[in-house]
Amino acid sequence: MGKSSKRQRHAKAAIKQEQSGACISSAESEQARRSANMAAIRSKDTKPEMIVRRGLWKRGFRYRLNHKRLPGHPDLVLKKYRTCIFVNGCFWHGHNVALPQIDNGQLTIDNSACCKIPKTNREFWVAKIRRNKERDKEEQKKLAAMGWHCITVWECELKPSKREETLESIAFTLNHIWLQDHQAKVVSYPKREEEDMQMPMAAEDIEKV
Ligand SMILES: [Zn+2]
Repeated sequence: MGKSSKRQRHAKAAIKQEQSGACISSAESEQARRSANMAAIRSKDTKPEMIVRRGLWKRGFRYRLNHKRLPGHPDLVLKKYRTCIFVNGCFWHGHNVALPQIDNGQLTIDNSACCKIPKTNREFWVAKIRRNKERDKEEQKKLAAMGWHCITVWECELKPSKREETLESIAFTLNHIWLQDHQAKVVSYPKREEEDMQMPMAAEDIEKV
């Protein structure tokens, strides 16, 4: 398909923004350059994504990465749970930001706590973030139509104070999905479940894991 990855697109947008803005202050230009570099460097194994990967791995979940054949190239794909996980940057994907249409040339947008749209060339950024949000929605719709569940994890939910809670909640959701999908099977094999109950509980030394 020759489609560039979302992080490459983000990097290009930041560079384009920098080149197009003759009136950008040097501080803002510096910021744009830095975010372009960051986006380029972070094209693989970004920190938030690694937190999710390690957190789920430690909890026993197994997954594939950047599935190229699925819409939106989900960051993690858990086939057993029929679930795609997207780890989204709060700025690029406009977390908690409602993007209104431009009304009478007036643009009224409230920044959210984790997505602050730059004041300079605001319309450029609003258009860019709006496109990203629309694309996210489209891709998740396609995945749902194919029978996949989607979980979006936001960067701000992975800061140290919230990280464990977020990972626990993802694990809970995955297990819930699995149970729902397999409820019919559990009902058809009650004997087997009883047998399993007779087995001793596993005693893992989690300190060593
Ligand atoms: Zn956020």
